[in-house]
Amino acid sequence: KDYCKPYGQIRDTCCDYQSVESIQSDTFSKIQALVQSKFFKYYKLNLWRECPFWNDDGLCMNRDCSVATTDESLLPEEWRQDALGALQMSPKGSAFQPFKVCTYKDQDFCVADDPSDQDVVYVNLLDNPERFTGYTGPSAGKVWQAIYEENCFNIVHKMSEGCPTCSAISPVPSNSPPLGPLLQDLAGPTGDDGDDEVCLEKRVYYRLISGLHSSISIHICDEYFDRTTGQWGPNLDCFVNRIGAHPERLQNIYFTYAVVLRAVTKLDDYLAQYPFQTGDVAEDEKTKILIHDLISSTKDCPATFDEKTMFQGADSRSLYVEFRDHFRNVSRIMDCVGCEKCRLWGKLQTTGLGTALKVLFAYEDKSLSYRSNPRLLNHNEVVALFNTFNRLSESLEAIQKFRKMYADRLAPP
Ligand code: FAD
Repeated sequence: KDYCKPYGQIRDTCCDYQSVESIQSDTFSKIQALVQSKFFKYYKLNLWRECPFWNDDGLCMNRDCSVATTDESLLPEEWRQDALGALQMSPKGSAFQPFKVCTYKDQDFCVADDPSDQDVVYVNLLDNPERFTGYTGPSAGKVWQAIYEENCFNIVHKMSEGCPTCSAISPVPSNSPPLGPLLQDLAGPTGDDGDDEVCLEKRVYYRLISGLHSSISIHICDEYFDRTTGQWGPNLDCFVNRIGAHPERLQNIYFTYAVVLRAVTKLDDYLAQYPFQTGDVAEDEKTKILIHDLISSTKDCPATFDEKTMFQGADSRSLYVEFRDHFRNVSRIMDCVGCEKCRLWGKLQTTGLGTALKVLFAYEDKSLSYRSNPRLLNHNEVVALFNTFNRLSESLEAIQKFRKMYADRLAPP
């Protein structure tokens, strides 16, 4: 039953695999219920912004790449473009000039779409699931390559030069049993991300990106379209090839989950006061209860990630700025993804991760309160953060499913 179950400390976090899996089993149904609620199922974005880095290679024309948008007239008045437009127009008569919308604040880790842009649309996320679309080849490869190139920081900052360490993050030695490629060695040294000498902040940066990549790959493999049978379903070989045979990619998804979960738990007080404005007071109240229910079910667990260990050593300010600016670039690279649906989920999940980073690193704890900082998060950031957490939770669920499929495959007839 426990075949290939991961164990031991998750590197660079303050928790182990068992704790994450136990939090996951306590919270999964709650986050699933939350993302189906009215506030969380709609996301606003510009799907057609030009790639700022290279000439677009053109959009994928497969039917599965396209996104169904939502008729705005069905949405609460407060969310609509015309309400937004009215707010952003100068009240001074004939010389109507839209105010310039600054798409990011100093604290933001993402460059957001301008909400007043005519190309901004609402999308019902439940109608557009992230799954296999057939988007592949040089266009997808170029985007991933550009994302990983953002991993190259200018600051040469090695462990030996005074990077902070968290006493709880040292990995446990590997003595994993010989289980075959899937999930083997998960708690041991990863070896191939070259992190032996690299500072904590850079490792964290890389692990978040790699964890996001793993999560996207898992969704592709979990909802895979088999062209020969014409059926959708989990594809074990896809999972083994892309994820299972690479222990560090598995580690990184647990790592990313631990970081996002930490940000979510830190928002308990803020979200208790947050005006969800779904156009229905009862629905607003229900949303608050669902969130509180979700966060309080993690309360008995130890903190999964210690953000206070980051950006403490020499050069910490410049390291922080580089970290934030590189992540901002990743959010801009998402406009180069050549498949609408992949772009939708890529933009949403980088916004979700960026929101988690902002909550963890850009503010002191006392500023995470609605009373003192009501504009901490906008509508889209809240939606993106919880949907990203849900995507990561679904990936952990899928890993358990693939673990079982793998065990069944290896079992004697
Ligand atoms: P890729 O996944 O393209 O990986 C490229 C290289 O990166 C690999 O060869 C490997 O060296 C390295 N790598 C792979 N995984 C990791 C990891 N976890 N950590 C570190 N390094 C790694 N396709 C869909 O069908 N549906 C989608 O929703 C979708 N969304 C996408 C979103 C984005 C932002 C991008 C850029 C692409 C998306 N794609 C999607 C395409 C998909 O991610 C793959 O690029 C495509 O399926 C081809 O996969 P591949 O096996 O060639 O390797």
